[in-house]
Amino acid sequence: MVNLVLFGAPGAGKGTLAIMINKFNPIVHISTGDLLRDHVKKSTPVGLKAKGFMDTGKLVPDEIVIEMVKERLKQDDVKKHGYMFDGYPRTLEQAKALDKVTKLNVVAVIDIDKDTLKKRILGRVNCPKCNRIYSTNNPKLMPKVAGKCDDCKEILIHRADDNEETFEKRWNTYQEQSVDVIKYYEKRKGLVRHIDSLTMLDIPEKELKKMLSLK
Ligand code: AMP
Repeated sequence: MVNLVLFGAPGAGKGTLAIMINKFNPIVHISTGDLLRDHVKKSTPVGLKAKGFMDTGKLVPDEIVIEMVKERLKQDDVKKHGYMFDGYPRTLEQAKALDKVTKLNVVAVIDIDKDTLKKRILGRVNCPKCNRIYSTNNPKLMPKVAGKCDDCKEILIHRADDNEETFEKRWNTYQEQSVDVIKYYEKRKGLVRHIDSLTMLDIPEKELKKMLSLK
């Protein structure tokens, strides 16, 4: 069983890579952003605490996110198929907490430059039901019917925090805190694999499996 972390700046393509992987492997996609947005939607205690941080592009405090992740890892699907994290860990504390509870096999770092990312984030829409991500400016990621999810037929929405101001903050946060996480993982031989965001969609399944040690 492979346990995977998908790593990269907000909008680098972690969710999209997760979908590519799930086409051939049932490994469980866990996006902490999606989990938190779900808590906010349901106004749970976690959601009420997290909302203010999320709206302003700041990281939700470690103790809240670490606890939420620990609970998710206890569920049967993860025990059976392994996990692929999307947006976690984002701080050294989170990386260390993850090491305490599971064994990580692969960290896939998706590389991208800031300007490309900004254009992409501002054109990003997603399905409110299944969270699948689409783009209004990348033909390869457009829905078949404009504005509707291919899978659920739900009307696609633009995330409230996908605006220019919040993007700058999230980019700075990524530079300041998350880069340390990569350095932490790079100390372990063979753990980190780099993927170029711009060519990622064209990677054949066979090659992707080899790159990420997946079956
Ligand atoms: P994302 O969907 O991954 O871009 O996450 C959206 C927002 O949720 C982020 O800007 C943070 O406020 C919060 N968030 C998601 N994952 C984490 C995490 N691992 N640690 C702290 N905050 C997080």
